[in-house]
Amino acid sequence: MSASLLQRSLSSVWHPCTQMKQHETLPLIAITRGEGPWLVAEDGQRYLDAVSSWWVNLFGHCNAHINQRLREQMEKLEHVLLAGFTHEPVVRLSEELAALTSHALGHAFYASDGASATEIALKMSVHYWRNSDRPAKTRFVSLAGSYHGETVGALAVTDIALFREAYAPLVRAAATVASPDARSAEPGESARDVAIRAARALEDFLAEHHAETAALIVEPLVQCATGMAMYDAEYLRRARALCDQYEVHLIADEIAVGCGRTGKFFAMEHSGTWPDFLCLSKGISGGYLPLSLVLTTDTIYQAFYADDVARGFLHSHSYTGNALACTAALATLEIFRDDNVLIANEQRARWLARAAGPIAAHPTVRHLRQLGMILAFDVEATPGFARRFHAHALAEGLLLRPIGNTVYWMPPYVLDEAQCAGLGARTLSALEKALAE
Ligand SMILES: *Cc1c(COP(=O)(O)O)cnc(C)c1O
Repeated sequence: MSASLLQRSLSSVWHPCTQMKQHETLPLIAITRGEGPWLVAEDGQRYLDAVSSWWVNLFGHCNAHINQRLREQMEKLEHVLLAGFTHEPVVRLSEELAALTSHALGHAFYASDGASATEIALKMSVHYWRNSDRPAKTRFVSLAGSYHGETVGALAVTDIALFREAYAPLVRAAATVASPDARSAEPGESARDVAIRAARALEDFLAEHHAETAALIVEPLVQCATGMAMYDAEYLRRARALCDQYEVHLIADEIAVGCGRTGKFFAMEHSGTWPDFLCLSKGISGGYLPLSLVLTTDTIYQAFYADDVARGFLHSHSYTGNALACTAALATLEIFRDDNVLIANEQRARWLARAAGPIAAHPTVRHLRQLGMILAFDVEATPGFARRFHAHALAEGLLLRPIGNTVYWMPPYVLDEAQCAGLGARTLSALEKALAE
């Protein structure tokens, strides 16, 4: 059976982020069941999902609490259009998220995937300036190496050549400024020094271009897709102040770093400031259903509130505010509260750090770094390392997908101490095999 399912998948399913020809040598894996942090394959092999199925799963697969909430909601209402109608799950979710920002960001606009949330924030920013008689402000600026999604609008602020090159003729590329990536520290420089240096580059850019710049978009504290580039919160504080000074919006893309990943619910909390727009997706539904949203301020909201229809934010997706997806998100927030997740993760993060100790000592390993439930390191290795490592990790029963020479852990918030230790030991073993090959 297995061979035929894999064959059928290869001939009928076009898999994401994949050169399909590589599957001539790397077999697909058919998953039949999920159990907490484990994925169970058709052949019975179990894989520890150490990347949370692309950073979405927070509380394990087939989580009993989320399942129960979804079953209850399914018996009441699965979906209704959100134009002209509303429902309890979307209202409660919006209220709870507003409360989590201390009502700094009290208005929630919904979509289904992260890239759409990016596009909504970009469009809202430009439309805000248009409604405020500043129609020249239509450009964006993002950080070198940034990733904000892969639809044509989101690609404009995504600075990863491989994702952008083929589509360059479609894209009105944003400007990029230096990344505050702490790895770029000169001898004697701290992470904070690098952040201050990068903020000066941002200031130079804004001084020259603020009149046509609508917004700066950042991934707060960790630029994940470029290879878990971590930086000091001082950059966010300075970026916030510069955006205020030059009348440029600050968009925080917390699609990957939100929902407790960095140790606080929102990564921006580390900086003590709020953005004008905050994008959430991935973990917000616990990894169950496609859901994204943009939180914004009352100032932004009021600029659209008028008798004129064209001043309104005329953007929609068919599944905007889907009741099941919002219910999964509410169940996710309930787990955060009921299980004191942010506190429990402090211990879990220490277990991960301890498990990574022997890896840090490996002679090929550089820049081992951690923020909350993200741990990453770079490996000095020959080309093709990521694919070799991925295959050896699978053989060890681990789902890990390095980004270039960066290996990272981004596990669900359910690992116990033994599972963290096992993750460390198996990662080291896969590393040694991948280097020996
Ligand atoms: C994943 C991601 C996105 C895009 O989300 P999709 O749901 O894949 O479209 C945008 N920004 C960041 C920071 C991400 O990690």
